[in-house]
Amino acid sequence: MALVFRRDPCGILCILVTYITLLYADYCIVTHVILPTLSDTLWGSLHVLIFNFLLFLIIYSHLKASLGDPGCVPFPEVAVDFSEARRSSRKRKDVTNDDWTMCKFCEMYRPPRSHHCRVCQRCIKRMDHHCPWINNCVGEENQKFFLLFCFYTGISCLYSIVLTVCRWSHACIECTRNQRQNRRIHSIVLILLCGFYCIFVLCILFDQLSGIFKDVTTIEQVQKKMARPPKSKLALLTDVCGRGSYYKWFIPWLSPKFDNDDVVKTFPV
Ligand SMILES: [Zn+2]
Ligand SMILES: [Zn+2]
Repeated sequence: MALVFRRDPCGILCILVTYITLLYADYCIVTHVILPTLSDTLWGSLHVLIFNFLLFLIIYSHLKASLGDPGCVPFPEVAVDFSEARRSSRKRKDVTNDDWTMCKFCEMYRPPRSHHCRVCQRCIKRMDHHCPWINNCVGEENQKFFLLFCFYTGISCLYSIVLTVCRWSHACIECTRNQRQNRRIHSIVLILLCGFYCIFVLCILFDQLSGIFKDVTTIEQVQKKMARPPKSKLALLTDVCGRGSYYKWFIPWLSPKFDNDDVVKTFPV
């Protein structure tokens, strides 16, 4: 799999913020929430294990979403003369959602629902939007990982909040006054941080899922391209997360398989 990395300053900054926040959350949970009151119990080890496994799932989903191919439309092997096509495309008003279109930036034809991203400078299949938090486009081939990144981040934030609140009243007997003070400060910062990120990712997740169930991408909603033959919600989720067993939808190291994977995608002549 070819790795992609966009040299976009905003995207790189968002990625740095994401990883610093994850490291800080891990430090707070282990050092200030679990170790002071649960270090000599099996529950302590279990919580450390669960939280770090959730972090692993977040990071794996994030790396797949940010470094994986979002579904770039391959450039044609033979360059096409677009002077005539540009003139005729201007006159065409009958282009529907399911027509191939022409990209004037890439100078090529692209499959239905593809859009050009100015940050990635590529046409992306079923492009939803360009997301600075993964420094990549959300498209046909990485939307599953983007959804998983939001999903596991939401779960980890809820887990952190519940654990921190539950351990709040348990005093650390061996801690010094200074350590207790530090523990309180870090716990409050962690709850505020997790509360903010939890609301943020759950809003994104809700927005993504409602778009999937309406069978429109964020770009199509903006362009008001809504008309599409009706499909069941399960079929629409399968379009994004891949066919096969449903448990595979939750595993970030499994790439989604689509019904049209075996079909050679070329422009119809
Ligand atoms: Zn393009
Ligand atoms: Zn992009």
